[in-house]
Amino acid sequence: MALEELAPETRNLIDGELVPASHGGTFDNVNPATEEVLGTAADGTKEDMERAIAAARRSFDESDWATDPELRSRCIRQLYEGLLAEKEQLRSIVVREAGAPLSLTSYMHVDDPIEMVSYWADLAASYEYEREMGPVTFLGNPQRRILRREPIGVVAGITPWNVPLLLNLTKIATALAAGNTVVLKPAPDTPWSGTHLGRIIRERTDLPAGVVQIVGSSDHLVGEVLTRDPRVDAVSFTGSTRTGRRIMECAAPTLKRVFLELGGKSAQIVLDDADPAAVCPMAAMTCVHGGQGCAITTRWLVPRSRYAECVEIIKAAFEGWSYGDPEDPKNLQGPQISRTQQERVLDYIEKGKAEGARCLVGGGRPARKGYFVEPTLFVDVDPKMTIAQEEIFGPVLCVIPYEDDDDAVRIANDSEYGLSGGVLSADEQRALAVGRRIRTGTLALNGGQWFNVDTPFGGYKQSGLGRENGIMGFEEFLETKVMALPGS
Ligand code: NAD
Repeated sequence: MALEELAPETRNLIDGELVPASHGGTFDNVNPATEEVLGTAADGTKEDMERAIAAARRSFDESDWATDPELRSRCIRQLYEGLLAEKEQLRSIVVREAGAPLSLTSYMHVDDPIEMVSYWADLAASYEYEREMGPVTFLGNPQRRILRREPIGVVAGITPWNVPLLLNLTKIATALAAGNTVVLKPAPDTPWSGTHLGRIIRERTDLPAGVVQIVGSSDHLVGEVLTRDPRVDAVSFTGSTRTGRRIMECAAPTLKRVFLELGGKSAQIVLDDADPAAVCPMAAMTCVHGGQGCAITTRWLVPRSRYAECVEIIKAAFEGWSYGDPEDPKNLQGPQISRTQQERVLDYIEKGKAEGARCLVGGGRPARKGYFVEPTLFVDVDPKMTIAQEEIFGPVLCVIPYEDDDDAVRIANDSEYGLSGGVLSADEQRALAVGRRIRTGTLALNGGQWFNVDTPFGGYKQSGLGRENGIMGFEEFLETKVMALPGS
């Protein structure tokens, strides 16, 4: 799709209106595959954020949004229809501004997130917000108790750039379905995946003014306003563990609910009964979308008894991996999002070499325009090395040998993170038994897929707090009230 046909929205959505930044400022949106400026986006200010919060507060306190699930369901379904109508524009935006591989847009980057909105439209209407808990007696007198779930209030959504449409829609649609009003602060690297939603909401839905605000900014501190303001009741954040810590600190004085979806360093365990020829080629999938996925398994734990064989197969998979222009459907790896991220990944690669890991494939940047990093394979990695402990967020795999199942479990759990992982075995029961010992939020056993709108997703340890998606994710956005009455 030609750039002119994208019709990206460059303005923010505040109190039902599409508006430029209050001081008229804009910032550039850069295509990471070509380094070309695609266009601009409104550079929201702290004053814009204050106005957005005021609108969200007023609409929560004064409109019917919080108390009318039918209205919510109807408006969220209109949003779904609007997204379907503009799917191709959204696809082009995500590919151009996030460098997402075109072939992945049929899944997590565009088609899946749009379908997820339909689930939230249904759940808004079908959820049982109030129910009897059953009779009890107190001091000999019968009592009735009614359990009621109510929206929390004003929810701030703060999102990163790696899967921008999925994360923006997850934050908005879940919180709205539960009856909250929302201020979304999308990532500065992918502004249009946020602002374009603002236009769809403005033009294609009956969402009352103030129910959703979308305020983009090049300044991270504009997002921080949301985490401090007493009018905001909850912050739902996806991003780095470092920023997650900062958000908890800022939210502490007003005791906001804080939900955090953070980083990962997930382990894939190849058990010694798995067939290396069948499972090891999958290791190259570490490089999908330039490794810019929180749940990617970036540590492959391989049995020492079959180490040489496994390494050979993984090496061949890396050498045969196709990467480059994200618009070419054969590439599952495009660029890193920015020059800063590209350099960060290359720094980690240098650290890996300096600490003694063996770089078997890649390890540099290709001679071409765009923020690309070569698919990079490290073997003979010690679990304590920096590249085995820290999240790189690049196309870099660490292969680590282990002695036996206990050793594999110990290495997998030797991480400050606990977001995802996998176990590969010829014996399903053995895979399950090992899987039960891994301290992590999601696990793929023998390549099984957990990703779905009804699957709770989130992390153990420093990978986060709370869960997104499914009934559990919906209930994170609800308060709990109990009302008691005498009688039975
Ligand atoms: P980041 O933490 O730098 O930024 C994320 C968002 O937070 C951006 O919108 C940014 O503007 C905003 N922000 C930054 N500082 C802030 C502050 N002090 N107050 C409020 N907002 C602030 O993360 P990133 O580099 O954009 O994204 C990559 C990270 O996201 C990786 O660590 C990855 O693992 C994580 N991630 C996690 C999940 C998950 O579901 N667990 C999903 C995707 C990405």
